[in-house]
Amino acid sequence: MADINMKAKESALVDVIASFIAHTSIRLPDDVFAKLEEMRASETEERAIQIYDLMFENMRLAKELKRPTCQDTGVLQFFVRCGTGFPYLDSIEEVLNEAVLKSTKETPLRLNVVETFSEYNTGTNTGTGVPFIMWEMLPGRTDCEIYTYMAGGGCSLPGQSTVLMPAEGYPAAVKFVMDRMTTYGLNACPPLLVGVGIGATSETAALNAKHALLRPIGSHNENERAARLEEMLEEGINAIGIGPQGMGGDKSVMGVHVVNTARHPATLGVAVTVACWSHRRGCIVFDKDLNYGSTTHSEFEGGAL
Ligand code: SF4
Repeated sequence: MADINMKAKESALVDVIASFIAHTSIRLPDDVFAKLEEMRASETEERAIQIYDLMFENMRLAKELKRPTCQDTGVLQFFVRCGTGFPYLDSIEEVLNEAVLKSTKETPLRLNVVETFSEYNTGTNTGTGVPFIMWEMLPGRTDCEIYTYMAGGGCSLPGQSTVLMPAEGYPAAVKFVMDRMTTYGLNACPPLLVGVGIGATSETAALNAKHALLRPIGSHNENERAARLEEMLEEGINAIGIGPQGMGGDKSVMGVHVVNTARHPATLGVAVTVACWSHRRGCIVFDKDLNYGSTTHSEFEGGAL
């Protein structure tokens, strides 16, 4: 009997997460929507204002017609911060996989997953290592936060990571980011949210950069120097004048977020990744009794399973 109840709960979890994925494909997170409104209000160039107006019309129609805000619904990535006491911990991976299958059919989401080397589209939005799931275990807790992220092709293109010689210092990290923004920034449908990761190796820096995209817009790094770097990069990228959709304008970025971890004395790992104006990241939180709600999308109705 207990097993049957567990299976029923897991199935209900699949339904809720699939509907949350659909919701995030159609509605942008509250902070992104508010930032775009703010940028539209302060923009002075006529063409840029027209592009912002088109974005808002696009979002209005997406909501009205229940269709994704962009045709590229990405490859699904999940960042799971889960209490070790969460009763459904063992099932999460399977639940997320099932939720992607279900949301792909029902939303629907574009079929984007291609097996590498075999080079065929799986037709399900799942494949080897996809959906990508990154875990953070939270000892002593019983709740589970699931961050969803739709990594589109255009907004993934500017991503790069490297390891700098430490003597090159932070100015070299700034040059690395600026070089990437001036060459590939346009590919990602600006205004951009730029995630910068600093760490010991190329992969730790890359993961930090991705985490930076999950932070709320308007938040700042707790380290004063890192926060100053965020500010300087934001000023620098805005000064390039890319503007919305790369057509010129006062602002080019919704923000620059830096996430840093400690490094080896002989290395300075740096990575950059970006989110486009249609920054479809969301967070849904479950408690141990499966009461749930979203911290990013106020229009997503919470409930209990
Ligand atoms: S960069 Fe973003 S808005 Fe542009 S096509 Fe890709 S997912 Fe869509």
